[in-house]
Amino acid sequence: MGRQIVILGGGIAGSLLAFNLLTAGQQVTLIDDVAPNSASRVAAGLFNVITGRFGTKTWMADELLQKLKIFYSHPTLSPYLQAMHYQKIYRPFKEIAEYNKWTGKAKQADYAPLVNFREQPYREDVLHNPYGGIEILPCGWIDTGALLGDMLRWFQTQPHFRYYPRSLTYDQIDLHKKAISLEDTRLPFDNVVFCEGHRASNNPFFPSLPIIPNKGELLKIEAPDLRLDFVLSRKIYLIPLADHQYVMGSTYKKDFSSISPTSEARDELTFHLEKAIKVSYRVLDQWAGIRPTTPDRRPILGTHPQHDFVHLLTGFGTKGLLYGPHFSEVMAQHIIERAPLPDTVSLMRFG
Ligand SMILES: Cc1cc2nc3c(=O)[nH]c(=O)nc-3n(C[C@H](O)[C@H](O)[C@H](O)COP(=O)(O)OP(=O)(O)OC[C@H]3O[C@@H](n4cnc5c(N)ncnc54)[C@H](O)[C@@H]3O)c2cc1C
Repeated sequence: MGRQIVILGGGIAGSLLAFNLLTAGQQVTLIDDVAPNSASRVAAGLFNVITGRFGTKTWMADELLQKLKIFYSHPTLSPYLQAMHYQKIYRPFKEIAEYNKWTGKAKQADYAPLVNFREQPYREDVLHNPYGGIEILPCGWIDTGALLGDMLRWFQTQPHFRYYPRSLTYDQIDLHKKAISLEDTRLPFDNVVFCEGHRASNNPFFPSLPIIPNKGELLKIEAPDLRLDFVLSRKIYLIPLADHQYVMGSTYKKDFSSISPTSEARDELTFHLEKAIKVSYRVLDQWAGIRPTTPDRRPILGTHPQHDFVHLLTGFGTKGLLYGPHFSEVMAQHIIERAPLPDTVSLMRFG
């Protein structure tokens, strides 16, 4: 029988790690307080490999995309997953200079398989896109709330899985005795892994962790005349749902005093929406969550310098969907086989 591994945090990081550990024959206990505004439960769920103001290919894009496809079509998991939507993204050019840049860039070997160059305006009746744009092909979105629910349903069919949907305080963890006290239960463990998202910034076992909580807000809108069958990305993104509804996001804010939705974020999002679409819309809902970002925008994987059975997986930032499958597997191999962690994502890079 494998080791007894406790994971604190059941967002994308903790759930994908639990999957990798269970399928590798380990025993997993997942403790999660199911915070409704955790990043993984509110995320728009987009995975896209050409991002940022300049439309740059994401770090490790090809490997991450390949791992994502393999992970979400895993024969064990796929019957449980109704949440995956492969859908192209249309990214209109903002100015003629961007059009000119992409005439060459779209033909380059590392971009050509990923994009389709649209020289002419597209769906001009409903979209502001006078210079055309690019379609980004190997992308889509995942309903992350549904994904976590579907994964948990599979976990609960596994004999070596235990689930505690409750909050844990750090003083309930005794590293010397390798045990967690949960009300009337004592949980001995061989390894413990912290996957607490942005709340890792207060983890006393890994003090001074460079996690920067970043608040994001999203809207749900209804726009009956828009009729998009692709994701639109123009400063904001719009993801088509059923019944003419769309999820749109997102804001990015490091300084915030509350985790609640704000009128400022709503105004910011609708300002950009009106620059992107020409038709009327109605806001139906708004919500917010906190991303665990890092100074170099890469995840943080690590093991405690004194306690080699205490680990950390966080820092997925704005790319939880792309980072999750690959880095949860890297972390599982590190825990089980002591495989070394790549320098680019290791906790050690922060000294
Ligand atoms: C508005 C918004 C939009 C986003 N859109 C996208 C997107 O389109 N694509 C994309 O790839 N990424 C997106 N992200 C980022 C993505 O959501 C994150 O990268 C990812 O969800 C982080 O996952 P995580 O598991 O590390 O953290 P979290 O999702 O924060 O999960 C941590 C879990 O640990 C639990 N927890 C923490 N401490 C304790 C404790 N002491 N006791 C018990 N439980 C605890 C929390 O309740 C939570 O369930 C978005 C984020 C936000 C906020």
